[in-house]
Amino acid sequence: MIKAAVILAAGKGSRMMERTKDRPKGSLAVDEKPIIEHSIAKLLACGIEKIVIGTGYKHDWYEQLAARYPQIRCVYNPHYPESGSMYTLLMLKDHIQEDFLLLESDLLYEKNALCVLLEQDRADVILAGSFSRSGDEVFIETDDSHHLVNLSKDREKLRRLDAELVGISKLSLSTYRKLCRYAEAILPANLGLDYEYALVGIAREVELYVQKLSDLAWCEVDDEDHWTRAVEVIYPIIKAREAIPAPVQRNILLNPGPATTTDTVKYAQVVPDICPREEAFGEVMTYLAAELTRFVADPAEYATVLFGGSGTAAVEAMISSAVGEGMLLIVNNGAYGMRMCRIADIYGLSYVAYNSPADDAIDLAALETFIQSSLQPIRYLAIVHSETTTGLLNDIGAVGEICRRHGIVMLVDAISSYAAIPIDMKAMHIHYLAASANKNLQGMAGVSFVIARRDQMEASRLIKPRNLYLHLYDQYQYFAKTSQMRFTPPVQTLYALKQAILETKWEGIEARYRRYCDAWETLIAGITRLGLTHLVPIQHHSKLITAIREPSVEGYNFQEMHDYFYRRGFTIYPGKLEGQHTFRVANIGAITHRDMERFLGLLEQYLQEIRLKNPPA
Ligand SMILES: *Cc1c(COP(=O)(O)O)cnc(C)c1O
Repeated sequence: MIKAAVILAAGKGSRMMERTKDRPKGSLAVDEKPIIEHSIAKLLACGIEKIVIGTGYKHDWYEQLAARYPQIRCVYNPHYPESGSMYTLLMLKDHIQEDFLLLESDLLYEKNALCVLLEQDRADVILAGSFSRSGDEVFIETDDSHHLVNLSKDREKLRRLDAELVGISKLSLSTYRKLCRYAEAILPANLGLDYEYALVGIAREVELYVQKLSDLAWCEVDDEDHWTRAVEVIYPIIKAREAIPAPVQRNILLNPGPATTTDTVKYAQVVPDICPREEAFGEVMTYLAAELTRFVADPAEYATVLFGGSGTAAVEAMISSAVGEGMLLIVNNGAYGMRMCRIADIYGLSYVAYNSPADDAIDLAALETFIQSSLQPIRYLAIVHSETTTGLLNDIGAVGEICRRHGIVMLVDAISSYAAIPIDMKAMHIHYLAASANKNLQGMAGVSFVIARRDQMEASRLIKPRNLYLHLYDQYQYFAKTSQMRFTPPVQTLYALKQAILETKWEGIEARYRRYCDAWETLIAGITRLGLTHLVPIQHHSKLITAIREPSVEGYNFQEMHDYFYRRGFTIYPGKLEGQHTFRVANIGAITHRDMERFLGLLEQYLQEIRLKNPPA
């Protein structure tokens, strides 16, 4: 049982001197508490009884801290300006008589990081996370048994990249002594040596196991960018995770949204009752609107307008509010393109549908010719980005370019692509874009939104309103003035959306798409192995949802297959394309390729079972 911890806190924090000119980095407060005290509270909660802090820069501050904690001893390194963290660690020799946890003072991390190290049977363990892209990472190279081989801030110097150093380790007393002997032999010539490189120095002698936690919420604060990210993204995630009362049964939704959510998003809805007209709630919505915009555009030029309602509400708001006099062209290559035609019909808009095959890319030259030869000039063009009917991904960048050439206002239904496939509204020449909370954002159903160019929305006030609730300009105007929605918003759903946005920022949209693509590739390899085929060619595939041709097995029935999966915690979706017998599997939400592997295992079992029940005659 580990009872001791060592915190290395001598460094000066010279890359954030504005904040650290009169105090050490560990004293910087997050949520009104110094970051080192967040760490101390977690250590004590995990049964640590003795904490030694190696101090240097502004050591008085730590001594005052120690006066409040009987468990803390401070040891001062007077050579801190010239020495690295290994020298500080060496100075603690007289105080370290047992196995211990070793931490850096400028870390924010979730408690699970400590639990994992403490529960590990191995004596020497180095904690690693997945890549934080902080710009200051220490990368780790390990051998095939996950033992430390090398570390570097320069990825080129490593033969392979396995993980990123977090800055929390568990060391046995004997390893610590080896580390000291190693350091003493090369000091003082290497006074600036940091402890992690000393670990590399003994890695041939001692097995230092690298424990990777790819989902760990943590960060180090070395500069202003880290600090902003720590306060705005990482800390709120840590706090939400640690507040989870109990895990919720995890169902894997392979339908195209609502998608599987994290427990932190689920629990974010449990908040004190609040009237949405209060200023505090206005601040929440203002944050949501700005961040939702920022994922795809600059909030100075574009704005997000929120609506209570499913994704179709946003599409309907966009089409009914943005299209004025002049012809609308709707690209129709699936059920969602068709839905936009339905909306245009109902509102009596002048529109023409441009029909394109549901299982192949749009012929861009033909589309442009169609636009050029239209008797009435095309003023607006509406298109679905990722056609959920089939998984076909429309090239909105190229279509945007056509719109730019012909002075056409472009409207995009990006409900199934937003927050997974990177979109740049300005570069893609998109004026209006509709999306919703419950697909790749991994939030709850009930909120959707339109993101639009502010000047375009201002201009749209001249269009005679066609509806009340879904009127984009009125909603935009009212929100800009009051930070309120005109009508009652889904309050709790918006709190969940806030958490979902944080988690999206934390993961990053590109990394999220990579995770989805991993799951998709697993799916495609799996169905191919089982002899099934999919409709849309890979080069035009969204890799978010796949229409799979139904198995030609006697006794197959979609509803029975659905129920088979449902009973086992997986939800699949029927096909939607006329004349084609397909079912659909989405790979979005808080899932990974491992969930997809479990799904494929069940699919194989199901197909075997119906084959056994229906032997060929
Ligand atoms: C999900 C989705 C919608 C909206 O559907 P709702 O059921 O109203 O949420 C619209 N367009 C596309 C492409 C979609 O995938």
